Amino acid sequence: MDVIPVPAPVCPKCHQAVESTDFFCRNCGTNLKAKPPDTAIGAQLMLYIGSALLPPLGIIWAWRYLRQADTKSKIIGLAAVIITIIELVVIAQISVSLINTVNEQVYKQTQNLLQY
Ligand SMILES: [Zn+2]
Repeated sequence: MDVIPVPAPVCPKCHQAVESTDFFCRNCGTNLKAKPPDTAIGAQLMLYIGSALLPPLGIIWAWRYLRQADTKSKIIGLAAVIITIIELVVIAQISVSLINTVNEQVYKQTQNLLQY
């Protein structure tokens, strides 16, 4: 019975043999296993809250999740992107209504001044 030899893992940078369990190359220190982003519920909440409060940064954090191969991380990343977009729309609408309110106030003040 033949045993198919598993190719020994090598460092992508210096091509030295490494153990499959190694996180860093023992020769050059290259990160062999980039740590995947946390998909725990606490980390998700932090991501969503961060996306809602700091819309541009949410995209960067979401990107880390979207790059992952597993579906769960992709869904989390997508949710963060959607939250970021909603947040940007809400901020835009608040800004527009605020500007309109200020304009109305200024207009009323001006009308009052003109009357007296
Ligand atoms: Zn190496």
